[in-house]
Parts: sequence; structure tokens; C-alpha cells
Amino acid sequence: MEFAEKIKQAIDKPIFRQLSDVAEEEGVPCYVVGGYVRDIILNRPSKDIDVVVVGSGIAVAERYAKKLGKGAHLAVFRNFGTAQVKYRGMEVEFVGARKESYSRNSRKPVVEDGTLEDDQNRRDFTINDIAASLNRDSFGEVLDPFGGFDDIKSKTIRTPLDPDITFSDDPLRMMRAIRFATQLQFDIAPQTFRAIARNCKRISIISGERIIDEINKIMKSKYPSIGFRLLDESGLLELILPELSALKGVDNVEGKGHKDNFFHTLTVLDNVALKSDNLWLRWAALMHDIGKPVVKRYDNKNGWTFHNHNYMGAKMIHRIFKKLRLPLGEEMKYVKKLVDLHMRPIVLAEDIVTDSAIRRLLFDAGVDIEDLMLLCEADITSRNREKVARFRENFGIVRQKLKEIEEKDRIREFQPPVSGEEVMEVFGLSPSRPVGDIKEAIKEAILDGIIPNEYEPAYNYMIKVAAEMGLKPVKGS
Ligand code: ATP
Ligand code: MG
Repeated sequence: MEFAEKIKQAIDKPIFRQLSDVAEEEGVPCYVVGGYVRDIILNRPSKDIDVVVVGSGIAVAERYAKKLGKGAHLAVFRNFGTAQVKYRGMEVEFVGARKESYSRNSRKPVVEDGTLEDDQNRRDFTINDIAASLNRDSFGEVLDPFGGFDDIKSKTIRTPLDPDITFSDDPLRMMRAIRFATQLQFDIAPQTFRAIARNCKRISIISGERIIDEINKIMKSKYPSIGFRLLDESGLLELILPELSALKGVDNVEGKGHKDNFFHTLTVLDNVALKSDNLWLRWAALMHDIGKPVVKRYDNKNGWTFHNHNYMGAKMIHRIFKKLRLPLGEEMKYVKKLVDLHMRPIVLAEDIVTDSAIRRLLFDAGVDIEDLMLLCEADITSRNREKVARFRENFGIVRQKLKEIEEKDRIREFQPPVSGEEVMEVFGLSPSRPVGDIKEAIKEAILDGIIPNEYEPAYNYMIKVAAEMGLKPVKGS
């Protein structure tokens, strides 16, 4: 179907007809514009409708909310000259057509009333710049002054005006370009991309919160690697996340190289993304080798090594998350843990797996064991098919063992079978070091398989350990 026809049909719905009535009553030109129109053509679901009014957006919004009646919720932002109506899960944003002029040091433009053309000139990309009329006489007629339809057809991100001006005016648009290229799997037009590279340093005037918003949208895409390659090629990555750029490149000593850890990381990230929507598991994938450049060594005997890069990486997470304005609570703890543990299942898969090694892995990974296994499998990116096949087979064995041992010993959500209170009561102790030592000894014995994870054996073991420490049960307990 022709794009124009598709848009006409898509907006032939009560909520748009009611908007049309309101536009007539107010006597002002109204258009639906931007992401909503783009997403109709791309068959993407969207709940945000942007409406441009050549006149007062607020007045139209107020009248619209009144017309919808009960269930409509109106919010007016006088400072910005915008208003929002929420109705049955939809959000309609109203803005007066505006003309913007920027000064060099701020993202905040001077805003004046303008025409529809002015408004279309200030938008970021041609694909976001298609307007459809809501007025009765011209309902559904499309205004596409910059070739947005053609760019959707050819899957191209392009600025409507000179890209140097578009990006310099609002450098956040550079992040948006890369984010859309990733989400939609579109290409950035060469001229537009070169302008991003030329203007990348201007990203410094954008707040961390806005940058991380775009990065997380990249992360949530089907193939996040697209975005990180573009960030890298444009020079933005080096400015935003230098620790990740540092993974790039291959050093050679005496003809021996190592793999490029940046591209390896991106493959791992895509592998994880194919298996899981969990944003934080994806962050763990992006961060899993972040410690490598710091600990990289070469010596004649071992060649290239990255000893303890998992531990070093885990240590770096807090600083990186803080700088990027990422949450520092449970999410960060989870990423840290996975980065720290990401070598463990691989080591198990290489060796003969003992039950106690499996129990220790279950204990350390806890409820995140399944995510850790996913990450670890995604980490196998070798091009050597035999090696990959061998790993996969061994991984299967590790998984099977994890299942058996968990069923038997319940280590994943480990609770001490004998509580601290009971230890204190039995030996007449107050909270003190020996109580912790006894509990620790019981836990170790369970992980080593000396006793099963059950109350009776744990109790008897406690008596034995305590006796070795010179403690006897007090009478009556
Ligand atoms: P999504 O909702 O998926 O993030 P979108 O294109 O709808 O994508 P919004 O941030 O909702 O993005 O913005 C709506 C419209 O406003 C865009 O389609 C675009 O026309 C315009 N726009 C948004 N941000 C900018 C910007 N920084 N510079 C220029 N125009 C912008
Ligand atoms: Mg939107």
C-alpha cells in the first residue's frame, strides 16, 4: 500500500476524528507528526501521538480533554507551551508550531511561534518529519517536505537540514541518530554520519541522564552491537565510555596477537540479546571483559594473558555505572557479580567437574546461576568449530550437574540449616566470633560434600566442630 494511503487509514479512528473536530472548533491547523507517523509506516506499535498546532497547542489540548470527558487526563506545561492528554493508554502531546534558534553553549533554544515549515525544520531526521493533516477538509493529507518516505524506503537516517547545524544545535540528536539506526536497522546517510564524527565533542553539553537514556535504548534493541560500532566509528564512544574503546585493537609481540576484545564483546552482547531481554544481563555482557586492558601482559612462556580480568572488571563497574548515571543498587550488584563470575562455568567445562565445584558455583551465583550460564555460553565466540563443539558439550554436562546437585542439596537459595540463634542457645554464647566460625564451618562442610544440607547432620557437625574449639553444649538445651 502507498505510504500516504496507509497513514490515512491508520488515523481514521475516533480519537483522531475527535481531534479533527476540535481543530475545526478552535479554527487552527493541526497535524499529527513525528514518531507516530513514522511508526505507522513501519508497522511499529506506538502509544505516543505528537500533534502540532499552528496556534495554541494548550488551547487545543484543553478543548480535546473536555470533549473526551471522563477518563481523560490533562497536564499543561505553560513554561514550554505544551500540553498532554492521556486517555485509555494513549498519550497525546500538543505543541504549538515553533521556530527555534540556538546559541552555541546550550541545548536550550530561543523559541518563537512559527509556521508548520518552521516546525518541520527543527526536527531531527527526515523519517521523523512527516506530518499528516487533521483538519476536516484535508484530513489525512501528508506533508513530507524532506523526503521522509523515500528515506524510510531506503532505510536511511538523514537530517532534514545541513547536518552540521542540526547536530551542533542539539548534540543529543547524534545519539538519537545512532539509536534509531540500531532500533530500526537503518543506515545513517554518509553525509549525516560524517557530521556526527565532526561534531562528536559537542556531546559534552548533553546531560548524562539523556545520554544513558539513548544508550539503554540501544541496549534494548535486537542487535545492540550496531549502535556500539557506530558510537565507536563516530568518535562518541571514546568520549562516553572510554573503558569500552580501550578494549579495541590487537597488539602483536613476536608475531603473536590476541583477539580484538571490543569486537568480541559486541558479539557476546548480541549473543546474549538473542536469548534474553534482561537489560542488566546485557550490561553484564558489555562489561564482562572491561578489565582486560588493565591486566593485559605478555611473556615468552605464556604469550598474552589477562589474569584476574574478571575481578578487575568487577571492581571497575561501580565507577563506570556512577559516571554513566546508571543505578547503583541491586542492578549494579548483579552486573558486578556476573562480571566477577563469568569465567567460572568455562573453567568447569574445561576440567573434570567435581560435585563440590558445582556446589560452590551454585552458592556464589545463587538465583542468578541461569543468567551466568547464558552469559558464559554467549562468551564462546571462537571461530574454531571443534573448540566450540567441545565447549558446548562440556557445558551440557555442567548444566546437567547443576540441575542434579541443586535438586539434591538446594544450594541456590542457601539458608544455613542451623541458625545463629540456635548455635548461641546450644553453647550459651552471646553474638561473637565463634558463632560465625561455627556457621561458616557448617556451610563449608556442606559445600565440600562432607555432610548433606539437612538439619540433623548439620546439628551433629556443629557439636563436633564446637568440641574442637573447646565448647560444650550447656545443660537443658
Ligand atoms: P521514540 O518515542 O521511539 O523515542 P520518537 O521519534 O517518537 O521515538 P520522541 O522523543 O517521542 O521520539 O519525539 C517525538 C518527535 O519529536 C520525533 O519524532 C521528532 O520529530 C521530534 N524530536 C524529538 N526529539 C528531538 C530532538 N532532540 N531534536 C529534534 N526533534 C526532535
Ligand atoms: Mg515518541
